[in-house]
Amino acid sequence: MITTFTGPMHSSKSETMIKYYNKIYNKDSILVFKPKVDTRDEGIIRSKGSSKYIDAICIKELEEIVNYVNEDITNIFIDEIQFMKGSVKTLLKLSIMDDIDIYCAGLNMTSEQEPFGLMPQILAISDKIINTYSSCNVCGRKAIYTYYDGNKESEVLVGDEGYMSLCRRCLRRILIRNGDNRLSKE
Ligand SMILES: [Zn+2]
Repeated sequence: MITTFTGPMHSSKSETMIKYYNKIYNKDSILVFKPKVDTRDEGIIRSKGSSKYIDAICIKELEEIVNYVNEDITNIFIDEIQFMKGSVKTLLKLSIMDDIDIYCAGLNMTSEQEPFGLMPQILAISDKIINTYSSCNVCGRKAIYTYYDGNKESEVLVGDEGYMSLCRRCLRRILIRNGDNRLSKE
């Protein structure tokens, strides 16, 4: 089974995934991965605002996962999966042919409101999708959008500085105020 936790920044995606990790008694049955591109907390997964963390193997492509799998492994956790490269077929094979439960956490959209990297394909192969919400930084409603308040060069800028969570209404208001037509163009 493939379970995916997805939402904007600051929506406790990793924290929600860690809860599932903590429920599994035999930790030797688990492999934990994160992409190499994420330089925050290299090699560990940490839930924000908490001292809890779990060790993770840093990889660049999903194909690398199979090098670590042995017959004792029944659970695989992957954090920040939107940054991962490679083919999601690797996960399908591990899920269907090897009967491994896979848990993925990743950002739904970039701060330009584009589906983020591999996420559309991850969501397509997921048995179960758990949407996580953050709180709109402006009005306090449920937020599913990440917005970047400033200048940046590419979507893979990693880190939290300058990013805010917004609800639909506040995103619309800010886009109009800034004359930003990213969602108005054909
Ligand atoms: Zn709002």
